[in-house]
Amino acid sequence: MKKKDKTKNNTQKPNIAIDGYSSTGKSSLSKAVAKKLGLIPIDTGALYRGITYYALRHCFDTKQIDFSCLYKALPNISLGFRKSQTGLALFLQGKNISKEIRFPEVSDHVSLVAKEEIIRAFLLKTQRNMASVGGVIMDGRDIGTTVLPDADYKFFLTASIEERAKRRFLELLHSGIKADFSKVKENLIARDKMDSERLVAPLKKAEEAIEIDNTVLTEKETVDIILSHIK
Ligand code: C5P
Repeated sequence: MKKKDKTKNNTQKPNIAIDGYSSTGKSSLSKAVAKKLGLIPIDTGALYRGITYYALRHCFDTKQIDFSCLYKALPNISLGFRKSQTGLALFLQGKNISKEIRFPEVSDHVSLVAKEEIIRAFLLKTQRNMASVGGVIMDGRDIGTTVLPDADYKFFLTASIEERAKRRFLELLHSGIKADFSKVKENLIARDKMDSERLVAPLKKAEEAIEIDNTVLTEKETVDIILSHIK
């Protein structure tokens, strides 16, 4: 499935796209594969969460996000990853917000923010800049279809909703964030629906992507399947 990307020279490392439903383990898998292959893992969901976190703090009008306030602020938002002791951390205006972006209120609003064309255009640039050096493994919803259509390898992950909700719930508990299982599950269903139905760059399997259902697979087994496709 390796495609020739005319913009790259032979010494550049491959770019890999990993898309799929919420909580299919995309980010952890990307990190594990990145470690094996010496690539840079980029969690693009964190970028959408970062913008949402900014909106909730600075552009929230009693019950909802004030999008005109957010659009005005966009050029002055500085959002990016920096190396930290635990890997790459997300920084917003110079502050590490890696934990805050996992809070339930961010999860509840992120798909609303992510369906806006202006936000997607802003983050498209950010993501393509990050990938321009080559050697990235980028996970999200529209990486294979929109952000990196010329990625060397594309994967699309699925798993049952029960399994995904369980994983997300445990992940939140482990990071010390209070969560309610049924709310976590409802949030995943709502986000998947909104992400799949939005008009701009919806969550969708790229035609040539390899689909992996990891409901009954361990992380290691899924990593091994991904690696088996990469030459
Ligand atoms: O990956 P994660 O679950 O953290 O992503 C949070 C949200 O960010 C998704 O539900 C989706 O609304 C948005 N997103 C997106 N496009 C991406 C990555 C994430 O719309 N490439």
